[in-house]
Amino acid sequence: MEEGAVTLNRLSAAGGVGVACERCGLRTRYRVATLSAIYGPTARLADFLNAVRRESNCPYRDGNWVDRCSLTASEAAETGAGPNAG
Ligand SMILES: [Zn+2]
Repeated sequence: MEEGAVTLNRLSAAGGVGVACERCGLRTRYRVATLSAIYGPTARLADFLNAVRRESNCPYRDGNWVDRCSLTASEAAETGAGPNAG
């Protein structure tokens, strides 16, 4: 495992992970607790992103490395009464 890889157990269990792709406009949020239950607490964020990409409808998901889905994950506050709720 590469050093510095972000794993789920490094994130706040009460927090969330925001996933977004600028190319296809995908924007989703996942709860860290939910992801840990599915992928395991030591799953890398990068591996989780790959799984999301596979299941997405992004037209770039199978593109080559320069023309590929630009899915990124970022730590996000727990979903709640945010301005974009819903
Ligand atoms: Zn995409």
